[in-house]
Amino acid sequence: MGLGLVGRSVQVKGTPADVEAAVRDAGAGWLLDEMPSLAAMRAGDSGIGSVQWSLGGHGIRIGDANLARDALSSQGIAVACSEALYAAAIRTPVDAALVHARQIEQRATHLDTLGRVIERCRFREASIWSDYASFVARFGDRPVPAETAALRQNQVQRMTVRTVT
Ligand SMILES: Cc1cc2nc3c(=O)[nH]c(=O)nc-3n(C[C@H](O)[C@H](O)[C@H](O)COP(=O)(O)OP(=O)(O)OC[C@H]3O[C@@H](n4cnc5c(N)ncnc54)[C@H](O)[C@@H]3O)c2cc1C
Repeated sequence: MGLGLVGRSVQVKGTPADVEAAVRDAGAGWLLDEMPSLAAMRAGDSGIGSVQWSLGGHGIRIGDANLARDALSSQGIAVACSEALYAAAIRTPVDAALVHARQIEQRATHLDTLGRVIERCRFREASIWSDYASFVARFGDRPVPAETAALRQNQVQRMTVRTVT
């Protein structure tokens, strides 16, 4: 049995007693009921679960190295595999530019969707979510490229982006 926690600083990186107190303060003490104390449990891996991305540099980045989607989307593995197929199909500089444009478009779409999810979130007024919403909104309104890439029979093809509002 494991316990997964999402939060900032002491909420996830404090001592076991700090983390337990943070869970109880958040009204989620029931999660700890009938569980061993956190001090008696083995700590697992931890990582950033919020959206992040990289820009510039050489070569083509795929998966989380390009855009680590918010973990809530549960899409990271599928899109990382898909991007690997796109990257392997690049044969010309035009292909590379189209795949790059697709990455920009995918990032804008993810930020837009994420912003809408947070807007509907029950806890959207809490600072942790409102701060996150501000961050997402700050980067979410970048222009989306007019053209992007589609992959057909292992060939990169040009596709026009249609924005639906
Ligand atoms: C809390 C959480 C929950 C998630 N839930 C889901 C989910 O339900 N469904 C889903 O699809 N996705 C989920 N994801 C996202 C998913 O895990 C990632 O999107 C996916 O693993 C990205 O794959 P990747 O190959 O790009 O990167 P990674 O899986 O991070 O693989 C990169 C690998 O490169 C290695 N590496 C790094 N630097 C070097 C180096 N210099 N030399 C050699 N090796 C190196 C790393 O050790 C790592 O093994 C979740 C993510 C988080 C954080």
